[in-house]
Amino acid sequence: MTDFRIGHGYDVHALADGLRLVLGGVEIPHTKGCVAHSDGDVAIHAVCDALLGAAALGDIGLHFPDTSTEFAGIDSRVLLRRVAALVRAEGYRIGNVDCTIRMQRPKLRPYVDAMRAAMAEAMGVETDRVSVKATTTERLGFEGREEGVSVSAVALLYKA
Ligand code: MG
Repeated sequence: MTDFRIGHGYDVHALADGLRLVLGGVEIPHTKGCVAHSDGDVAIHAVCDALLGAAALGDIGLHFPDTSTEFAGIDSRVLLRRVAALVRAEGYRIGNVDCTIRMQRPKLRPYVDAMRAAMAEAMGVETDRVSVKATTTERLGFEGREEGVSVSAVALLYKA
């Protein structure tokens, strides 16, 4: 009997002019970036929460408090690597991860495969276990007004 666990993650960051935009471990040329305590990688944060959720290990704020100077400006791939280690320490293996990035601009399609590879590397899994999708919100809501980015993610863990 395989013990399957599914988890969901969701994160939002505000956008501001002149900041770096880092999504899925990849720096993307743009006029705006995410306002954050870390590097603002909202995609990795959602994936971390999906993994933690599947293992019922709390959330990213519990493990990496934004009041801690240790995590100021941190590369979120470091957080993802630590989260993958936490779920492995509980005996789980990562089946797959899927996320959807909602952002009006820029077009993210050219960066999707690099994001998949970067997140797979951080989690220590094959790239074909990681999916990244991107959509606009047809100019509706905060994503559509380019005030922020939201990402939802799901992760499947298993114990064989
Ligand atoms: Mg976040």
